[in-house]
Amino acid sequence: MPRHDHFSTRSIHVGSDPDPTTGAVVPSLSVATTFMQDGVGKLRSGGFEYSRSANPTRSALESLLTSLETCPTDTVSEDARHDISGGESLVFSSGSAATAAIAHWVTLTEEEGGAGGRDGKGHGGHVLAVNDVYGGTARYLARASRPTGLEVTFLNMEKAGEQGIREAIRPDTKLIWLELPTNPLLLVPPVRLISDIVNSLPSETRPLILVDTTFLSPFYFTPLIASNGDQHPLADITLSSLSKYSSGHSDIILGSLTISPKTNQLRPTLLKGLRFLQNSMGASASPRDCHLLIRSIKTLSVRMLKHGLNALRISNWLSITATKDLNYVERVRYPGLKSDESFKYVQDLISKNAKKELQFLGWKFPFQHKPSSTTTSSSENEKQGEVVDDENSLEYTRNLGIPFGGMITFAIKNATSEQAEKFCTSLRIPILAESLGGVESLVEIPYGMTHSGLPKETLKELQITPNLIRLSVGIEDYDDLIEDIEQALKIALSS
Ligand SMILES: *Cc1c(COP(=O)(O)O)cnc(C)c1O
Repeated sequence: MPRHDHFSTRSIHVGSDPDPTTGAVVPSLSVATTFMQDGVGKLRSGGFEYSRSANPTRSALESLLTSLETCPTDTVSEDARHDISGGESLVFSSGSAATAAIAHWVTLTEEEGGAGGRDGKGHGGHVLAVNDVYGGTARYLARASRPTGLEVTFLNMEKAGEQGIREAIRPDTKLIWLELPTNPLLLVPPVRLISDIVNSLPSETRPLILVDTTFLSPFYFTPLIASNGDQHPLADITLSSLSKYSSGHSDIILGSLTISPKTNQLRPTLLKGLRFLQNSMGASASPRDCHLLIRSIKTLSVRMLKHGLNALRISNWLSITATKDLNYVERVRYPGLKSDESFKYVQDLISKNAKKELQFLGWKFPFQHKPSSTTTSSSENEKQGEVVDDENSLEYTRNLGIPFGGMITFAIKNATSEQAEKFCTSLRIPILAESLGGVESLVEIPYGMTHSGLPKETLKELQITPNLIRLSVGIEDYDDLIEDIEQALKIALSS
């Protein structure tokens, strides 16, 4: 009987078959660099030759990622453990190595499977990117890849609108680079509009859409799976820094590219070109890291759900603080909070799997909230003297919005950069450090840390001010986190 498995089941079982000889329920780690041949060029089944080009543990991770990123939850498959969609994943030694490979692909000759650059023969070619991409991505596209002739335009897609986006797509535009949500402001670019524009162009030559989904992981966002009755998935390729939520424990650096089944079918040379680059550039993932990452992904569902619940509740607390007695913070941003300017996109974009998990907890889609509850911006309700719901109840939380990732940004009102720093160093639980996505909460100041390399005008334009705080909400106890944030705000503002 054909059967299908849901995301959580596949995250545990795909790529993790029991060892065929010993029956060990955890597959063995394959550390060999090279593989015996039974004759010249006669490889054993599996086709492994040398671990830079392919390795069994890395392949297992790649099949797991392909399943999570490209198999719809209601796929019917012959076998629960090998939910095959026709998509493909490639794992690299870091998210940045994945960035380098796809950027190089733009400039690679068509003969080698590349996009051909400016004229098909390689060198040049154009990438149209959202204007506030991850700093390392901007650095790679604008600076490191310059010798390949690659040209990049950074565009505020929201502002540009349909006409502006159409005008920015050149005949040699090979790739449209999106990130969702953006960092650190957690904005959601109009991905559906961009997808519609690109899909209206001739399918053989249109640019491909890449989305960096690092901040959400495939638990919350799977743009390679067509949903809502769409003909096309929203994107062709996802890029993920697996070093963040997929690892989840701040102890692995890895990255991946995944190609949608549809794109893999229409552009079979894309995979060939990327495998060629993966092998040639040598940024291979260590099998040990791949093994550990397979383990991490087994708990992705439970972690992401808790990250999302904590972040929704904390962003609400910060918003209430901003409007009530404490009055310490402003510009709280969390796309899942119903008052957030990006909230309108969340219901459309959130994965079917995340919806399923949330429906079990009582969320309704389309989102509904009871106006009687006292939430973010409902000071009117208080005036009417209505009973305040128990803030520690699930019912209250369901009224706040939709869990959508674990990242929050906010500004401390009128704080100097010293006061913002004091806040970070006065926290007992969140650790002052770059990066995100671990089970432990991390806090940082983009102005002085992750985004300090940006030009001053860009910082100003993006409103990355010295008092802006980015919080990667971990899965610790909510009450402990709130108590800690409150005490640190008080210390900071009295310093
Ligand atoms: C961290 C990160 C990267 C780069 O990944 P590494 O694994 O650190 O090389 C790319 N994109 C986003 C959004 C990131 O957060």
